[in-house]
Amino acid sequence: MTPHYPLEGVVSWNMNTTCNYRCSYCTQRFVESRAQWARDLPRFLSAFAALPGDWEIKLSGGEPFRHPHFLDAVESLAAAGLRVSVVTNLSSPDADLARFADATRRKPGVISASLHLEYADATEFRDKLARLGARHAGSVVATCVATRALLPRLPALAAHFAEAGVTLKIQPEKQDRDVIAYSPAERDALLALGGHGGTGHIDPDLSGRPCWAGARYFIVDHTGEAFRCYPARRYRQEHLGNLLTPGFRLRTDAEPCHYSYCNCTVPQQRGMVDTR
Ligand code: SF4
Ligand code: SF4
Repeated sequence: MTPHYPLEGVVSWNMNTTCNYRCSYCTQRFVESRAQWARDLPRFLSAFAALPGDWEIKLSGGEPFRHPHFLDAVESLAAAGLRVSVVTNLSSPDADLARFADATRRKPGVISASLHLEYADATEFRDKLARLGARHAGSVVATCVATRALLPRLPALAAHFAEAGVTLKIQPEKQDRDVIAYSPAERDALLALGGHGGTGHIDPDLSGRPCWAGARYFIVDHTGEAFRCYPARRYRQEHLGNLLTPGFRLRTDAEPCHYSYCNCTVPQQRGMVDTR
């Protein structure tokens, strides 16, 4: 069955490849250059503001706070009436994080903070996120890559975060863009922790199901190239054009999924595809 038309669309904007960390499991560690960033912000802003209906812009990178004009971009997007969310490693100073919270107060989104234990102390990170959560009008959530080594510690870590009122969700570890070969016991442990991003799934095959990605969800990189979703970009198909050019075309309807592994939590969490 086709899910209802999503009233608010979502764009995942990978606005830079720059990052101040080099996590050993980073899926972007092989990208050609870790120093690319969206340069023509006014054109991006106009393109986002021209999308039909209501939209949330979910900023990610790399580490988006490392974009040289990140907070200006957030303030401009919010002023244009767009909901703004962010995926960040939370390494920025409290003052910059607070500025993000303040800029998005009228139409707040989600701050999704990824804990990387190769660089960050868990308790300091938790407390920093709790402080930000007290200031942010939207929601905050912590995420953590469930490496094999870390997996046994994750239930205790999730409880530690819960003590400060912070939800910790997990992301399966990927290699060559596929989820690593977890054992059945490890998969059970991942599901007990809520699955990928709390979706209740690890690597769902939703092929054939009608999905609103391409119409009410899409991904765009720092150059404006837009694809239906992350698997579409991976296989270089279902290209929607360049967001910054007149050739960009959104779809108008839900269409069947063509991929055997959906790693896009947004369409799953927003009811854009039936995952049951
Ligand atoms: S913080 Fe994120 S983008 Fe940066 S190296 Fe780690 S996993 Fe990659
Ligand atoms: S991979 Fe996921 S987001 Fe992409 S079309 Fe399939 S269900 Fe939709």
